[in-house]
Amino acid sequence: MALIERHEWYDIARDTNWTPAYASESEIFPDLMTGAMGVPMEQWEHYDEPYKTSYPEYVKNQREKDSGAYSVKAALERSRILESSDPGWLGILKSHYGAIALGEYAAMSAEARMARFGRAPGMRNMATFGMMDENRHAQLQLYFPHSYCAKDRQFDWAHKAYHTNEWGAIAARHAFDDLFLSRSATDIAVMLTFAFETGFTNMQFLGLAADAAEAGDYTFSSLISSIQTDESRHAQIGGPALQILIANGRKEQAQKLVDIAIARAWRLFCLLTGTAMDYATPLQHRKQSFKEFMREWIVGQFERTLLDLGLDLPWFWDQMINEFDYQHHAYQMGIWYWRPTVWWNVAAGVTPDCRDWLEEKYPGWNDTFGKAWDVIIDNLLAGRTELTLPETLPIVCNMSQIPICAIPGERWNVKDYPLEYRGRTYHFNSEIDRWVFQQDPLRYRDHLTLVDRFLAGHIQPPNLMGALQYMNLAPGETGDDAHQYAWVASYRDKRYQKRAA
Ligand code: MN
Ligand code: MN
Repeated sequence: MALIERHEWYDIARDTNWTPAYASESEIFPDLMTGAMGVPMEQWEHYDEPYKTSYPEYVKNQREKDSGAYSVKAALERSRILESSDPGWLGILKSHYGAIALGEYAAMSAEARMARFGRAPGMRNMATFGMMDENRHAQLQLYFPHSYCAKDRQFDWAHKAYHTNEWGAIAARHAFDDLFLSRSATDIAVMLTFAFETGFTNMQFLGLAADAAEAGDYTFSSLISSIQTDESRHAQIGGPALQILIANGRKEQAQKLVDIAIARAWRLFCLLTGTAMDYATPLQHRKQSFKEFMREWIVGQFERTLLDLGLDLPWFWDQMINEFDYQHHAYQMGIWYWRPTVWWNVAAGVTPDCRDWLEEKYPGWNDTFGKAWDVIIDNLLAGRTELTLPETLPIVCNMSQIPICAIPGERWNVKDYPLEYRGRTYHFNSEIDRWVFQQDPLRYRDHLTLVDRFLAGHIQPPNLMGALQYMNLAPGETGDDAHQYAWVASYRDKRYQKRAA
């Protein structure tokens, strides 16, 4: 018997809205969970997902993708990637797994909320596949690093990070809880799939797969490509939801959700991807600077997507673009200096050759960040490593949960953006972070940053040792300089040459 073509049955098969007889619609689809913003069901039925697939097609495809990724892993089991990779690359792997693996699990819950409470049948259908996608991503990214744990326990943080109070894990959880877990189905469609995934992760995964291949890590490259193809499908849940909101006069609310999600995604990407691209990636493997990457993908591509939908650019767009020049450089100094507080070994990425590259990509780098690194390098050359290690905690932003930092040196622009709210002073990295808080103070006001917890006496003894224990970083897990300071030698040689000449 011949099968009917998919397009002939798809619309009718997926149209699962009906008029309930035994319960009211508001009981089945409470506003709190749907976030429909008062747009009636008939309007949501105009939702038209651009990517259409059936369950048998989905399963067949995913099975092939899974067996592809797992067989590449098995085939390269003996490639000794751990032993032969640049330590900077291993740092990227570990930071990625710890920050992302269980984030995928959170994304699965978010997709599940859309699968149940999405107001449009097409949205529920796509989200059902999205939910299975995210489950697969969590499994893959827990399984792959697991085989490295016996050799290097920092890889255990793929699983462990989310269950700790390590500061980066707090930052990731705070953002993911906000955007994925504690929102309605419509909010999730806009914030997770449109802003976070279309805007940021899709690009991140494309770039990361290419970087992995370039670094010779084909296992990771195939893993990331396998995930990315899912992301580019389910990221399309948000666009048609936005079209419906805008067509029904809800542009203002939709815009606000988009702006908040972009603001939050930007901080995390800046921390993870910015430092990975411009410092941890070995110099010979760098294709683009983080700034060039952001300009191409976020300004070049995503900006168009926003405008085409009829949205405006976020009010902070120019300020964010301005931050492409410095914010991740500041974060890099932070993660290297506070290296005992992360679960991977941090590549400094500031050899003389790296600095020439940084100066070319970011004119003025040497007069600002370079000067601060000079102090660190002088101390390392003089054998005063202890002066390059932290004794205190930095001031942490009450929104991003990342230390407040910006440009050091002659163009100093580090500033706290405080806010008094009901007798408590909150501190923010920028107007953008503060604005997010002001959109919904009730949502954020009770959270304590790591430093708030320190001041409240939750961290005992109140010193770095106590903080490491609080963050659950065991000996053998705490970060150190990825190259065991070998890069400092190039400065010793350089200075020796200068003196000799
Ligand atoms: Mn995913
Ligand atoms: Mn996803």
